[in-house]
Amino acid sequence: MIAIAAASIVLPHRQTGAATLLIAHGRIVDILEGQPVPSGAAVHALHDCLLAPGFIDVHVHGMQGADVLNGADALQHVAAALPHSGVTAFCPTSVACAPGVLQSLLEDVRLARRRPQLGAARVLPAHLESNFINPVWNGAQPAACLRLPPSPHAVASGPGDYSGDDVLRIIEAHHDAVAIVTVAPELPGGLALVQQLRDLGIIVSIGHSGATFDEACRAIDAGVTHATHLFNRMTPLTHRDPGVVGAVLASPQVRAEILADGHHVHPAVMRVAIAAKGIAGIMAITDGTAGSGLPVGTQTTLGGQRVTVTDRWAALDDGTLAGSVSTMEQVWNVLTGPVGLSPVDAARACATTPAEQLRLAEQGRLVPGALADIVALGPDGRVRQTWVDGVAALAPPDRA
Ligand SMILES: [Zn+2]
Repeated sequence: MIAIAAASIVLPHRQTGAATLLIAHGRIVDILEGQPVPSGAAVHALHDCLLAPGFIDVHVHGMQGADVLNGADALQHVAAALPHSGVTAFCPTSVACAPGVLQSLLEDVRLARRRPQLGAARVLPAHLESNFINPVWNGAQPAACLRLPPSPHAVASGPGDYSGDDVLRIIEAHHDAVAIVTVAPELPGGLALVQQLRDLGIIVSIGHSGATFDEACRAIDAGVTHATHLFNRMTPLTHRDPGVVGAVLASPQVRAEILADGHHVHPAVMRVAIAAKGIAGIMAITDGTAGSGLPVGTQTTLGGQRVTVTDRWAALDDGTLAGSVSTMEQVWNVLTGPVGLSPVDAARACATTPAEQLRLAEQGRLVPGALADIVALGPDGRVRQTWVDGVAALAPPDRA
């Protein structure tokens, strides 16, 4: 049995004072507040740390030079790197890509899920920031890879080219490896696609979308329950024209991602979104890229396109914002700092709500019986240790 003694433990509805969390066989056994620690337990003394549920990032493309689209080794590298920022589970996230590339990713995801690496973050089914997004709102998504949703009349335009139907066939054949697909539902055939994906058990997310408020509401009625980086790359809210943002904020059945690096969405706007949806409707994400964790000026790739790390985000050569270079450690500190959330609410946005959205009943909360996926944060807000399945994932001397 392992006992982690901490300054405080973040429970689902409150924070303890000094307390000890007990782990056995990869699960949380008990949380002791004042009771004696069982004899024989191996005690990890982290008396200045706060314990929170391990972070679950439902939108991350890469980290430390690796992009999940670059093959099985890159996926493993990302999984091994993420616990350094407190992440214990993640959805490997693609940008729009050719069917062959998508197929490789989904096969890599399947394999990684079958053979988890000790001490690495859990590989969850993928999030496809898909081919079915609006070319006007694509951001850094490669325009050449965008396709209309499948239709009976769709034809590929030439040898080597592909249609939306080809993409959907790959998703269907690997639907067990897909958690979320981002779609612009206003595209022709968009609503039918929402229903097809729902029928496969996939969460459909509205994003990279130029939908009107009414179009977005119709998509939500058709089964959209997720929003991809709320505010970024979607029609904004104004008082007479609520856009996609207004539809998401006004619809309790939709949980919204927020890219909470402090640069992509103003902290005051994050507070507005949390007030509108409740903290149970918000999932904090990094949208992290291969540039995350690398020094400013480093060049790396996003879905095969060159990106450069700046002091705020990753940028394409033409300056287009191409995702973030943030980590969940930074996101936690933005939420508990400028946004002003309590650790209990920050843990909800960083772990509990993402787990609920993905129906991961045993993750996202520090309660007896849950999987022992835990992050320990020091008083400086830095991740001191992360446990995945009860196994300590970090052991560098400066952090042990
Ligand atoms: Zn993204």
